[in-house]
Amino acid sequence: ILSNYVKSSVKESDMSLRTSKIQLKIPRGCDGAVLVKNLYLSCDPYIIQSMKKRNGYIASFMLDSPISGFGVSKVLDSTHTNFKTGELVWGFTGWEEYSLIKDTNILFKVHDKDLPLSYYTGILGMPGMTAYVGFFEFCSPKKGDIMYVSAASGAVGQLVGQFAKTAGCYVVGSAGSKEKSVVALMKVDLLKNKLGFDEAFNYKEEQDYDAVLKRYFPDGIDIYFDNVGGKMLEAVLNNMRLHGRVAVCGMISQYCLEQLEGVHNLLYLFTKRIRMEGYTVSDHYHLYPKFLEMVVPLIKEEKITYVEDIAEGIESAPGALVGLYSGRNVGKQVVVVARE
Ligand code: NDP
Repeated sequence: ILSNYVKSSVKESDMSLRTSKIQLKIPRGCDGAVLVKNLYLSCDPYIIQSMKKRNGYIASFMLDSPISGFGVSKVLDSTHTNFKTGELVWGFTGWEEYSLIKDTNILFKVHDKDLPLSYYTGILGMPGMTAYVGFFEFCSPKKGDIMYVSAASGAVGQLVGQFAKTAGCYVVGSAGSKEKSVVALMKVDLLKNKLGFDEAFNYKEEQDYDAVLKRYFPDGIDIYFDNVGGKMLEAVLNNMRLHGRVAVCGMISQYCLEQLEGVHNLLYLFTKRIRMEGYTVSDHYHLYPKFLEMVVPLIKEEKITYVEDIAEGIESAPGALVGLYSGRNVGKQVVVVARE
């Protein structure tokens, strides 16, 4: 339940757990709905926007009502012609044990049951689509391109880096958490030794972003996949090459600020002929079947891997969500509500 609207950072105490009795049956007259048992919930950075009273981006949650987001669920009852009792689905649901989903616009069937179900919160779900659309539709990659990915070990970033490697790019990722912490070491190690990035660095150990980029990109950057915005974006623009591309996927460094930071060197967009373009995955779900066709064989042939950070129990959801904004998660942050 959302207990308070947030102004800047989100705290666990802005959310609370409530128990109430419900009927495990769709009410009469409620056509086109599905009643589901939620199995896995997805913690996603955008959720904080809906926890603000006014955000100018997506609808705000109602106070004293359940938080909603992406999840994987089992259909218990259905008055919708496309979904049947017993089927597994992923899409928009509530942060609850059971949800009545009336708006099924973003609800998809789980097709491949021999892959981990939790993957439908990540690599086979919204973040996977975000990485696919962002990289293939907005980065115009060419073999040999030099690419930088920020928040690279997260749900989206780890896939972007791996897609870029399959496309023949040279890829450097950054990840953080506290300076020199175990989590930071784990993330940087993951990028280089498990996810196949060519290089990786802990940005939180660096005082001067421009200097670290010059160190890792002595010849400049062709493609920047931006997950963080802010000062890193500013430093990247200094280091872009002529005709570079910046895909603006997200700007998590700004989500907990009351006043957005400015980027002062947009001048480089025209002097270096850079194409910088933002996108939201919700405009691109028609590409989902094409995406599955590409990604499922890559997973099955172990040509692509996916790291998840699993929190157990719905009561762990507030802490797991808050952890995203300080980089506590290592990989895709998932919450298990029930395993079947
Ligand atoms: P992640 O799994 O990457 O988790 C968030 C990560 O962001 C943290 O682990 C942390 O990693 C990093 N981070 C947190 N706070 C800051 C900060 N102040 N400055 C820099 N980095 C920070 O999340 P996702 O992969 O799900 O999302 C990545 C980005 O993609 C977000 O910006 C999100 O909003 C965006 N997104 C956009 C979509 C779209 O449709 N355009 C859809 C889905 C996601 P670390 O510090 O270790 O780097």
